Amino acid sequence: MSGIYLHIPFCRKRCTYCDFHFSTTFESYRSALLEALRLEIQLRAPELQGTVQTVYFGGGTPSLLSTDELSELLAVLCANYALDSHVEITLEANPEDINETNLIAWRQLGINRLSIGIQTLSDQTLSWMNRAHGVQDALFAVKLAQNIGFDNISVDLIYGLPNLDLPQWEQTIEEVLNLNVQHLSAYCLTVEPKTALNHLVRKKKLQPADETQQSEQFLRLLALANDKGFEQYEISNFSLPGFHSRHNSSYWAFKPYIGLGPSAHSFDGRVRRWNIRNNTAYLKGVGKNENWFEVESLSANERRNEQILLGLRTKWGLDTTSLTSGWTQKENAQIEEFARLGWLKLDQQKIILTDSGKLHADGIAAELFRLD
Ligand code: SF4
Repeated sequence: MSGIYLHIPFCRKRCTYCDFHFSTTFESYRSALLEALRLEIQLRAPELQGTVQTVYFGGGTPSLLSTDELSELLAVLCANYALDSHVEITLEANPEDINETNLIAWRQLGINRLSIGIQTLSDQTLSWMNRAHGVQDALFAVKLAQNIGFDNISVDLIYGLPNLDLPQWEQTIEEVLNLNVQHLSAYCLTVEPKTALNHLVRKKKLQPADETQQSEQFLRLLALANDKGFEQYEISNFSLPGFHSRHNSSYWAFKPYIGLGPSAHSFDGRVRRWNIRNNTAYLKGVGKNENWFEVESLSANERRNEQILLGLRTKWGLDTTSLTSGWTQKENAQIEEFARLGWLKLDQQKIILTDSGKLHADGIAAELFRLD
């Protein structure tokens, strides 16, 4: 099973908290970059054997592409890769781009899954986030997409926000799940270096939630999503049965994928590759086929560590039989200690985190890492 990720590095505005790769001043080279992306799609085709099960347009803001631009990218994909007849094609879409004309065109292009960036249901918060949409735009966008026939819709939310108390967070989750979407991704706000949010926090103009509040909000999210029939299949991802993101699930299952576009990462099971995180250097580099990506071969320990990190984050847990070697005595003692604390349970050959363990997922994984 293979997946293809396409990174569209354009955004209308710079969201306060965002450290993804994108540009807000791209019109002068927009078509040249998309041409480079189409060229990369062709150049990389020999890397993927077999059928492609998933295509994911992420970014940046892929929904700001015109129908013609999306259509051209999909045409080159179809011409160069064997897309499965049931391929999952996801488009990340911001509410301000969602209108009847676009939705009809996206469906005609074969896009069958939308991931809509709602983030929060407070206009005040959307304003300091510098988002380009308001609450009503987001709610309307979801309804319109459903009316046009999209029946696999994911929405993104952020918790741990400044001034978001527990009752407000509960109300947000309930309102969003009442929209009858099939999937929810919810991420805790992180203050990344070199973001406007970092600057505001350092100047004491904003104060994100503390760890206790974050944990309370996370556990409440689990309970409310569960009440509505949503299964938490990865720490930040919830779905109704049958609606998990097939694309993202293959990352967590350590399957091969290729990432196309500036800053996109690829993985073939042994080697990681990442494209240059600079739009003009990318388009020039792809054009000349030089200096536009780097590669790193993962050592046996690095592969094992990634498997542990990713496996523990999922409902399926870490399948210890998939590791190339068993646990040492010291590691076994550590696992038993985590089990005693109630953070994980052992099920046959699987290690699965409990709800309280999910609060410590990265720390638990790190304790089991092996260093080269
Ligand atoms: S729209 Fe998305 S990618 Fe663009 S700045 Fe905002 S959060 Fe980042």
